[in-house]
Amino acid sequence: MTSATRRSVAARAPGKVNVFLRVGSLQSDGYHDVAIAYQAVSLVDEVRVTEADGYSVTVTGNVDVSRVPTDRSNIAVTAARLVAERAGSRGGVRIEIDKRVPVTGGMGGGSADAAATLIAVDELWGVGLPREELFALARQLGADVPFALTGGTAIGTGRGDELSPALAQGSFQWVLVLADFGLSTPQVYRELDAHRARHVQDIHPVDPRPVVDADVLQALRAGEPRMLADVLHNDLQAAALHLEPSLARVLELGERNGALAGIVSGSGPTVAFLAENLDAALELQVALSAARYHVVRATGPVHGARLLGD
Ligand code: ATP
Repeated sequence: MTSATRRSVAARAPGKVNVFLRVGSLQSDGYHDVAIAYQAVSLVDEVRVTEADGYSVTVTGNVDVSRVPTDRSNIAVTAARLVAERAGSRGGVRIEIDKRVPVTGGMGGGSADAAATLIAVDELWGVGLPREELFALARQLGADVPFALTGGTAIGTGRGDELSPALAQGSFQWVLVLADFGLSTPQVYRELDAHRARHVQDIHPVDPRPVVDADVLQALRAGEPRMLADVLHNDLQAAALHLEPSLARVLELGERNGALAGIVSGSGPTVAFLAENLDAALELQVALSAARYHVVRATGPVHGARLLGD
C-alpha cells in the first residue's frame, strides 16, 4: 500500500474531574469498590489512526508528554489491538496522539486516548461494533475508559466502570492547576490503605460498597456551583496530600483567591477549583498564574468520545 492510499480517522475524547470519589474497603483481590461522580471537562485528547503494516504511536501535546510510553504499553495501542482481534484484522495502525489532558494527573488522560482509539479504529476498519461491545472492550482497558466513551455526567460504581447517567444541568467553570510531577494511582491507593490501617481505632468502619451521597446528585441536578462546591469530596485527597504536601499550598491559595472550593482530582496531582462563574474563573486563573502555577481553565460537562470530520 502506498502512503497516498492509506486511510486515516481522527477522534477526540475528554478528560474528567471526579466531583465525588468514595473508596470502599480493601478487598481480598487487592481492589476497592468506588463510588464516583464523574464530570467530563473540556480538556480533550485527539487521536488520529492511519492504516499501517504494524503498530506505532507518537505523542505530542501542550502538556508534558515525556512520561507517556511510545511502545506497545501505550493504552491506545492496546485499544487498537483489541479491536483488531475482534475484527480479525491482520493490518496495523499508526497512532498519533495530541494531548491536552495532563499525564498521570488524575484526569483520565490515558483512558481518553483509549476511548478515542476504540472508536477511531472501529471506524477505520469499518467494524461497526455495537455499543455494548465497545463498552465491553472499554471495560477491559481500564475502569475509567467507559466513562471517557460516554462523557457528560455519570455515576460510576463497582470498579468505577458500572455507569449510570446522572441528571445534570448547566455548565460548571473549573480552574485546574497542573503539577510538573505525576502521582501513581496504585501508590495513592496504597497510601490510603496504610492510613486507614494506622487509624483503624479512630475512624468509622469503611463501607465495602460505597455510594454517591444524595446531596451530590441534587447539586448536579440543580446545576448550582455553590451547591456542588459544598459537597465536593475525594477520599484519595488526604493520601495524595500525604505523598505530595505541596498540594496543600495550592488548595489554600485557590480558596484564598475566590474559588468556591478546591479538590484534588482523582488520585492527583491535578487540583481542580470550582468557580462561581466565568469572571471568577478568569480572576482565579490570573492569581494562580501569577504565583507561577501552570493553570488551565475548563468547563464541564462535555460530551464523550466522538469521531472528527476531516
Ligand atoms: P487516572 O485518573 O485514570 O488514574 P491519570 O490521569 O492519573 O489516570 P494517565 O495520564 O491516564 O493518568 O496515565 C496513567 C499511566 O498510564 C501513566 O503511567 C502512563 O505512563 C501510562 N500510559 C499508557 N498510555 C498512555 C497514554 N496514551 N496517555 C497517558 N498515559 C499513558
